[in-house]
Amino acid sequence: HLKEISEFKDRFFTNITHEFRTPLTIIDGMAGLMEAQPEQWSGTGLQKIKANSGILLQLVNQMLNLARTEAGAISVNFVRRDINKYLAYLVEQFSSEAVRKGIELKFESAGEFFEMDFDPEKLMHITSNLVSNALKYTPAGGRVEVTTLVTDNGKMYSIRIRDTGIGIEKEHLGHLFDRFYSLEHQLSPVGTGIGLALTKELVHILHGTISVESVKEEGSVFTVNLPVIHSATLSDTPGAEYLQL
Ligand code: ADP
Repeated sequence: HLKEISEFKDRFFTNITHEFRTPLTIIDGMAGLMEAQPEQWSGTGLQKIKANSGILLQLVNQMLNLARTEAGAISVNFVRRDINKYLAYLVEQFSSEAVRKGIELKFESAGEFFEMDFDPEKLMHITSNLVSNALKYTPAGGRVEVTTLVTDNGKMYSIRIRDTGIGIEKEHLGHLFDRFYSLEHQLSPVGTGIGLALTKELVHILHGTISVESVKEEGSVFTVNLPVIHSATLSDTPGAEYLQL
């Protein structure tokens, strides 16, 4: 077990170093070009610096959030709203990325309106992690579908993220939600293995479950099941700033 932990640590440090180095190299390179030839590079340079500092910030935030969830330092802030509308909004945030990658991104919910208590910030992290992974591990020409439905006689709200991407081998499926578990492949050579571990922690904080089914070379389906609750009072609006409805 100790050997396994030590290997994980080594892998994590190697991966995390790569994850930090790529955006930092781009930022550094762009700053140099902007300094040398401001006329030519200020537009593209600024854009690249902004995009890559965003990636670094997200990475640091993910690491901090994982540490906080594991220390039990995260509280739940429920609001009662139309969860279908909120999810449609979250998925919409990825539409330009999908177009850029040549992937068809679809959102579908059974029924237009479904009101329940949910934590907007946590749901945003969960959905964003799963949709961005689906886009990351699906080649151009593929499809990513987010479907929601109410199951278990109205007791469960289910979010399904299906992609037609590279899929995952059976032997890895059981470890996917482990911290720092990251696989190497052509589409994305290194990762941190933090995203899914954090996603699972957040789902558990919301008393939900997460599971994955996948077939190598065919695609993957991640399913998040959240219990339907109606305990937040309607005036309970912390986190409403995330809704933007
Ligand atoms: P990272 O993407 O940084 O490696 P994650 O925790 O988000 O970390 O994912 C862990 C691993 O699970 C990834 O390295 C990848 O191999 C695999 N994975 C996650 N989502 C998908 C997906 N939709 N399709 C194929 N593989 C996936």
